[in-house]
Amino acid sequence: MDLGTSAARLSGWGRHPVLDGHMVRPERYGDLDRLPGALARGLGRSYGDAALRRDGTLCSMLRLNRMLSFDPATGVLVAEAGLSLAEIASCFLPRGWFLPVTPGTKFVTLGGAVAADVHGKNHHLDGCISEHVPWLELFTPGQGMRRCGPDEDPELFWATAGGLGLTGIIGTVALRLKPVPGPWLKVVHHPARDLDQILELFSDPALDAPYSVAWIDCLARGARLGRSVLMLGRHVEGGDPAPPFPLTPRVDLPCDLPAFCLGSFNVRLFNEAYYRLNAGKTQPFRSGLDPFFYPLDAVGYWNKAYGSRGFVQYQCVLPEDETRKGMRRILEAISSAGAASFLAVLKKLGGQGRGFLSFPRPGFTLALDMPFRGKATLALLGHLDQLVLEHGGRVNLCKDAHLGRESFQAMYPRLSRWLAVKRRVDPEGRLASSLSARLGLTEGP
Ligand SMILES: Cc1cc2nc3c(=O)[nH]c(=O)nc-3n(C[C@H](O)[C@H](O)[C@H](O)COP(=O)(O)OP(=O)(O)OC[C@H]3O[C@@H](n4cnc5c(N)ncnc54)[C@H](O)[C@@H]3O)c2cc1C
Repeated sequence: MDLGTSAARLSGWGRHPVLDGHMVRPERYGDLDRLPGALARGLGRSYGDAALRRDGTLCSMLRLNRMLSFDPATGVLVAEAGLSLAEIASCFLPRGWFLPVTPGTKFVTLGGAVAADVHGKNHHLDGCISEHVPWLELFTPGQGMRRCGPDEDPELFWATAGGLGLTGIIGTVALRLKPVPGPWLKVVHHPARDLDQILELFSDPALDAPYSVAWIDCLARGARLGRSVLMLGRHVEGGDPAPPFPLTPRVDLPCDLPAFCLGSFNVRLFNEAYYRLNAGKTQPFRSGLDPFFYPLDAVGYWNKAYGSRGFVQYQCVLPEDETRKGMRRILEAISSAGAASFLAVLKKLGGQGRGFLSFPRPGFTLALDMPFRGKATLALLGHLDQLVLEHGGRVNLCKDAHLGRESFQAMYPRLSRWLAVKRRVDPEGRLASSLSARLGLTEGP
C-alpha cells in the first residue's frame, strides 16, 4: 500500500511552533483502518499544536473528501471527513441549505470542525457543531472502526467531539444542514463606546439576532477600554443575482511582512479607521454570506502578515457574572502590553458544549491574535491564563500553543470522563499530538 508518506515540516495556522514529522495521504477509505496511532490533520487551521506531532505520523485527510449521500427530507449530508466546509456551502447554498454552525473560516475540514467541536456566530441559539451531527465513523487504535453519535455510544461521541483527534481518525460525518431562505443576510451594526455598553448590547432582547459577534478594539484604554462594534445578521429571502461564494481566496499574501507592519502604532491607526467605518453602519444593509461569515478568507495566507516568527491566538471564555470585572482586567493587561492586533472579537456564548473537552460554556468569549515575540509573549499568556482561572473561565484548545497542565486541568472539569474513553479506545496511548503531550493527556515529548 502506498500512502504517499513523506517527511513534513509543519505548523498550525499561527506558524508557531514549527515541528518535523511524517505525513501519509490515504485516498481509500479502507486505508484508515491501517493507520492506528496516526494523528489526523485537516486543513491546518487550528492555530497552535493540536495538529502537530514531533517526529510522529500525521494522516492528511484531504484526499478523503467525497460526499456520500444527502437526504432532502432531513437535510442530513453524509460525507468523508476531509471535505471542507467551503465545498459544502458552495454546493448546498444554491439549493437552499447552509452549514448549521460555521467557524470564522470556511477553509476547515468537516473532521477538523467536529474534532474541535467548533462554534460560530449562532452559538447562543444553536450550540456547537456536534449538536448537528447524528453520527460519525471513527477509526480507533484499540477497537478498530466504531460508529457513534449522541444516541449510539454517546461517551465515545462526546469524547470525540472536541477531542482534537485523540480518540481516533474521524472517517465519515453525518451533518444536519440548515434550510435557509436564500444566499443573503440582513446585517446591522451597533457601536459601543466601552466594555459596559457592549455587554449591555449583547444582553438587550431588542437586539436578539440569529448571528451576533462584536469586533473589539483591544488597544483602546481608559474611558474607551472595550470599545466595539456589535454586528448582527439574519437570513433573508431572495434577490437576484446571488452574491459570490468563492472557493478560493481573492488574493494571496505573497511573503512574510516585516514585524513593524503590525506594530502597535499601525494597529492603533487601523483600529481607529475600522471603528469609524463600521460604527456608522447603523441602518440595516444586505450582505452575502461570505463577507459576513468569512471576512478573512478573502486574503490567502494572511497568517504571513505576522512575519516569520508567527503569532498566537488567545481565546478565552468567562462566566457571565465574571465578565465585567474579568474582561476588564484581561483587556487592560493586553492593552498595556501593546500586544494585540486588529483581529479581535467578543461574543456571547450559549450553553455548555456537550463534548467533554468542548470549549464553549455560558458567558462571553474574547479571541485575539498576537505576534509571537518569544518570552514576552509567553509571559503575557501565562498572566492571561491566571486571570482566566481566577474568573472561572477557560482557554480554547484548538487555538492554543502554550497552556500548562495544571491550568488545563482546572479549566476542563470533565477531563476524567474523557480519559476513561481514551483508555478504552486507545489503551496503549498510541495516538498523541504535541498539544496532548504538553497538556498531559498522553505521554511523550
Ligand atoms: C481564521 C480562523 C477563524 C476561526 N474561527 C473559529 C470560530 O469562529 N470558532 C471555532 O470554534 N473555531 C474557529 N477556528 C478554529 C478552527 O475552526 C479549528 O481549529 C478547526 O479544527 C480547524 O479545522 P482543520 O480542518 O483545519 O483541522 P486541523 O487544524 O488540521 O486539525 C485540528 C484538530 O482536529 C483534528 N482533526 C482534523 N481532522 C480530523 C479527523 N478527520 N479526525 C479526527 N481528528 C481530526 C486534528 O488532529 C487536530 O487536533 C478558526 C480558525 C481560523 C484560522
